[in-house]
Amino acid sequence: LHGLMQDQPLLISNLIAFAELHHGDAEIVSRRVEGDMHRSTWTEVARRARQVANALDAQGLAMSDRVATIAWNGYRHLELYYGVSGAGRVLHTINPRLHPDQVAWVVNHAEDQVLAFDMSFLPLVQAVHARCPTVRQWIALCDADRLPADSGIPNLVSYEAWISGQSERYAWPSFDEHSASSMCYTSGTTGNPKATLYSHRSTLLHAYGSALPDVMGLSARDAVLPVVPMFHVNAWGIPYSAALTGCKLVFPGPALDGKSIYELIESEAVSFAAGVPTVWQMLLGHLQANDLKFSTLQRTVIGGAACPPAMLRSFQAYGVDVLHGWGMTEMSPLGTLCALKKKHLSMDAEAQLAVLEKQGRAVFGVDMKIVDGQGVELPWDGKATGDLLVKGPWIVKKYFNSEDGDPLVDGWFPTGDVATIDADGYLQITDRSKDVIKSGGEWISSISIENIAVAHPAVALAACIGVAHPKWVERPILIVARKPGAEVTREELLAFYEGKTAKWQIPDDVMFVETMPLGATGKILKTRLREQLKDYRLA
Ligand code: ADP
Repeated sequence: LHGLMQDQPLLISNLIAFAELHHGDAEIVSRRVEGDMHRSTWTEVARRARQVANALDAQGLAMSDRVATIAWNGYRHLELYYGVSGAGRVLHTINPRLHPDQVAWVVNHAEDQVLAFDMSFLPLVQAVHARCPTVRQWIALCDADRLPADSGIPNLVSYEAWISGQSERYAWPSFDEHSASSMCYTSGTTGNPKATLYSHRSTLLHAYGSALPDVMGLSARDAVLPVVPMFHVNAWGIPYSAALTGCKLVFPGPALDGKSIYELIESEAVSFAAGVPTVWQMLLGHLQANDLKFSTLQRTVIGGAACPPAMLRSFQAYGVDVLHGWGMTEMSPLGTLCALKKKHLSMDAEAQLAVLEKQGRAVFGVDMKIVDGQGVELPWDGKATGDLLVKGPWIVKKYFNSEDGDPLVDGWFPTGDVATIDADGYLQITDRSKDVIKSGGEWISSISIENIAVAHPAVALAACIGVAHPKWVERPILIVARKPGAEVTREELLAFYEGKTAKWQIPDDVMFVETMPLGATGKILKTRLREQLKDYRLA
């Protein structure tokens, strides 16, 4: 017996139509590449997204053809999110921090037909365009009068000229909700990048899930600042969940330094912000150095890499709640988010913090389990550590056009992360499996060693990696970037570990670097550190 309810596909165009109708005057504020501020609304975004859709039709693009972007977070990028996917084409957001060879590789692999880019990426596009024969139209995300005359890029048009003649009317097509809507390549630290191909259905379910109160809890009273880039797993889905909830959006453009982000939070009365720890480190550094306070910020989602407990405490001291989240490109990305349960409310502050430091509970829609080396499921006791597997309707089934075969194991996606899960269902990531340090047959969690280091007042960023050792197979060493002007010695840092972790887990050495190598998404590049230290020998 079928239920007798209406059949309506879950489509991304539903989101923009809803936002326009119910939250049309909610603002979309962007810091532009040009440096100035731009103010728009959901009404305006919807209107211009329809012009984008008409422009794509005029271009002769077929259903599911790929349209790529190389762009910061901003209103034009948001218009492309809706115009491209709403009209049945697939939005391919490219990470500009990929190596140019990889950019060319992903454009060819995705067979992008149109590529829109911010002017800050003109040199990158100039370097790769000749190697991208599938691209028929290059679009510079700028006004017509800013288009360079001699760029050397054929078929280049400004975004404003491209949409200007187009009608503001467009009937969003209806189609199968399983159709592809957007795609995102993993950073490809090993081999070529792999593409996760999201669907309209997975995107809408993820938007519903992420807006829940114990997840991001977005509302029409929020002003949301996604510092996490729109080229990194769709800015954790915020462009979609924001339309679903009708919140104001604030986009930082290319200015991700502490001062710019702080000023944006204050001037736009941001209540909710989302980003990776390295970005928040710069923001907190700016606050501390200038004795500033937040006047409107209430909550921040921190994920993409482990949020050090010291960072959680710093935000709390500023009156900001931290929601520690875990996810992956292959998971759209949300897997878990950390919020207390009712039973935690009677606990003291320290006990609550111990819960909040974890990566959190599964969002409804995500099933997870941990297994040992033989694939046997391990208990949820907060102690057993195993490989983490997940499944659910917004988790990858197969990579796009990949020859690597089926990534699933009995229907579960292996995350490559190592974790514990406690009896209340709180996940704690102890490592990426490739970062685990194996010393004398025991595992050392690089994350826990790094968390201790960044609690030291002189430490800005820390990375713990394993190096070969004749007796113990591997031993941990610590690489540290100090805060500007701060002093701390190797001996002082090693002494700082006393009493905070088991003696045998204390790093054997500390090395200082001026700048920490960061990957395409602002995470510490341990692969680079390992390369740099390949000739390093422990004494
Ligand atoms: P990339 O492989 O390009 O870094 P993702 O951004 O998809 O791709 O990264 C996902 C990985 O980031 C996870 O598998 C996990 O290792 C790590 N990660 C994400 N959030 C957290 C977190 N809160 N704590 C620890 N690790 C995290």
